[in-house]
Amino acid sequence: MVNHVVVIGGSYCGLGITHRLLKNRSRIPDLKVTLISKNSHLYWNIASIRAIIPGVVKFDELLQPIEPGLAQYGPGNAEFVVGSATGVDATAKTVKVATAEGDRDVPYDYLVIATGAGCSDESMPWKADGTYEEILDSIKKMGEKVKAAKHITIVGGGSTGCELSAELRYEFKDKTVVLLSGTPELISGDAAAKAIEKELVKLGVEIRKSVRAESTTVLPDGRTEVKLGNGETLITDLYLGTTGLTPNSSFLPKDFLQPNKFIDVDEHFRVRTAENVWALGDVVSRPNAAYLHTDPQSAGVAKNIEAAIAKRPQQIVKSMPFSAIVCATGRDRGAGRLGIVPVPSFMAWALKGRTLSIERAASYINGSHW
Ligand SMILES: Cc1cc2nc3c(=O)[nH]c(=O)nc-3n(C[C@H](O)[C@H](O)[C@H](O)COP(=O)(O)OP(=O)(O)OC[C@H]3O[C@@H](n4cnc5c(N)ncnc54)[C@H](O)[C@@H]3O)c2cc1C
Repeated sequence: MVNHVVVIGGSYCGLGITHRLLKNRSRIPDLKVTLISKNSHLYWNIASIRAIIPGVVKFDELLQPIEPGLAQYGPGNAEFVVGSATGVDATAKTVKVATAEGDRDVPYDYLVIATGAGCSDESMPWKADGTYEEILDSIKKMGEKVKAAKHITIVGGGSTGCELSAELRYEFKDKTVVLLSGTPELISGDAAAKAIEKELVKLGVEIRKSVRAESTTVLPDGRTEVKLGNGETLITDLYLGTTGLTPNSSFLPKDFLQPNKFIDVDEHFRVRTAENVWALGDVVSRPNAAYLHTDPQSAGVAKNIEAAIAKRPQQIVKSMPFSAIVCATGRDRGAGRLGIVPVPSFMAWALKGRTLSIERAASYINGSHW
């Protein structure tokens, strides 16, 4: 009897589970893994804030095809379905998938949901919210807008807003870059906030704190009018939103979800209301939405699937044991902290800012990362 594991979501978590299980297939009897992904390519979205600057990031490194990496395991062991999961029937144990060839039902014995979370402003290219072609098109179009703009306003003083404003000023000294933070301090007042702010100020980013963008209107000349919470109006050539994440969970049974639409899991990262279903990564956002948690969580969930197949008890899935913020501030500096230890600029550059870890993408594709 085949043990069919179906994984939904072809990003850091989904690939982590898929490759981990398939690499260990000698000890998992009759294993077949099917990966369902909206995108045919892994999108190294951590580099998206640099990829929107034309000519800086190679697109074939930013987006890499998933299928060749799975082909090494043989067609009987691994299947890759490019399509969007549109429903899960936890009683019949099937996933409904919309593909270019039409709808199909994929049966499962074990199901993993790793569909992540998308940008609240869907026009922003920071997450893998569409097909490969749509993502690539969105990045290229954003690059053209960035090039043409003289005045850019970024809304959101979190890590993405800080890194994005730094990248823009690093490349374009002649553009005005305004960063609006709704909170009194950047990164919600994190211990690393002051150091990050210092780097942004050095680069010439205009930071405005405790100011919220209430509404935006695109003017006939293409510029955007931004109404601020303090009654002020700001006119900008390009408005970039970096606030808010929406879990990609709308296709799931309602009883899988918490009131905030993130998936409700137990300490084994099993969906509480269904048998043999796990969820991890941003679609759970436990303890929070971060790449740093994706690897420990995919390791833990892969072990638990193996345990379920072998009828062994489940184990607690651990996330990163400490929190960390490493913020790239342009291509040669950075700031942040690992736990409570501040990270000096050269270390933040080496850990993150130098390449935004894009070189790791190839190892996620061929499975050598695990
Ligand atoms: C600009 C930026 C920089 C970041 N930098 C860092 C950092 O330095 N450190 C850090 O810890 N975190 C960082 N993050 C957060 C990090 O990107 C996320 O935590 C990470 O992407 C979560 O991975 P995931 O696999 O859970 O889901 P995601 O990366 O969100 O991917 C989910 C996948 O599922 C697919 N999918 C969605 N719905 C469906 C469906 N219905 N059917 C099929 N497929 C579907 C999507 O297309 C996507 O491929 C950053 C985020 C951004 C936006």
